[in-house]
Amino acid sequence: MLRAFFVHLSENPTLRSFAEKSSIGRRVSGRFVAGTDIADAVRATQAVNRSGMRVSIDNLGENVTNPDEARHSSQLYHQILDAIAANHLDANISLKLTHMGLDVDEKLAHDLVAGLVAKAASMNPPGFVRVDMEGSPYTQRTLDFVHELHRMPGNGNSVGTVIQAYMRRSEKDVEKLLAEGIRIRLCKGAYKEPAEIAFAAKSEVDASYIQLMKTLMKSGIYHGLATHDEHIIREAEAFATRERLAPDTFEFQMLYGIRRDLQQELVRKGWRVRIYIPFGTEWYPYFMRRLGERPANVLFIARNILRA
Ligand SMILES: Cc1cc2nc3c(=O)[nH]c(=O)nc-3n(C[C@H](O)[C@H](O)[C@H](O)COP(=O)(O)OP(=O)(O)OC[C@H]3O[C@@H](n4cnc5c(N)ncnc54)[C@H](O)[C@@H]3O)c2cc1C
Repeated sequence: MLRAFFVHLSENPTLRSFAEKSSIGRRVSGRFVAGTDIADAVRATQAVNRSGMRVSIDNLGENVTNPDEARHSSQLYHQILDAIAANHLDANISLKLTHMGLDVDEKLAHDLVAGLVAKAASMNPPGFVRVDMEGSPYTQRTLDFVHELHRMPGNGNSVGTVIQAYMRRSEKDVEKLLAEGIRIRLCKGAYKEPAEIAFAAKSEVDASYIQLMKTLMKSGIYHGLATHDEHIIREAEAFATRERLAPDTFEFQMLYGIRRDLQQELVRKGWRVRIYIPFGTEWYPYFMRRLGERPANVLFIARNILRA
């Protein structure tokens, strides 16, 4: 119900132009989305780097409906990699396969992402491409893609993916990824999934997250723990201390403009933190869809607006 309502709102052009022009719209989106073009993303990245944190730059967009849009998205990501090199940014990129045309032409999507990973691998220092995880219709193909791209000569450590802790299949998926030394971002999961394939209760999702997190932290491979959940973050800190894991063996990851207090606290303590910075013209529909997908976010956004 809530989701349908937000998806409906996201398609309203009047609301969109109001939101994009309104000061609240600019403030809220500005808090969570770093503007509409690469220059905005570079500025936001430089500010985050200055405060001691790394960055993953995401160009907003998904489920493109024609090959030209996919090629355009890929070109834009090539420009982002060039901007990272030219400005010596401490940043990598995050992309969605449906933004690269997975819905319209699977081979095209594969080739476009393969081109970006090869470019990242050829950079000095080498860059990195994180393939975001979308809804469950894309899970297997996303994992297959990443396994294949990782095996391609020269790509080595320049491609990784995301595991969603709410998925019942995640333990097995993690095993396969670790067997090939692939870097993982662990998150709870932002999409609406049926109970047969995903844990529904927060307690189950959190328990799955913590179990997978400990496996990743002890794997000897460099992973990202993506969450704003303080309880889980404390658990990770305690586990790292107990297991004598050096701070440069993993990183915490958070969304741009969210729980900045926690981000800064972790940096002060000497942990590594990476901020996911989304930018682009498709911020409003994306933003509203995000709110609609997880009712908790609606409260959270409201809380954060009040907190500002
Ligand atoms: C760096 C990063 C990358 C991500 N990549 C993906 C991806 O590829 N695929 C995917 O499915 N999901 C992705 N997510 C989203 C993720 O799956 C969760 O939906 C989101 O992080 C909210 O869950 P939480 O772990 O913060 O904890 P929750 O249990 O939802 O919330 C714990 C606390 O965090 C805060 N919080 C809650 N919701 C949000 C929110 N949306 N944003 C910020 N803070 C919140 C609140 O203060 C709340 O009390 C990513 C998240 C991050 C941080």
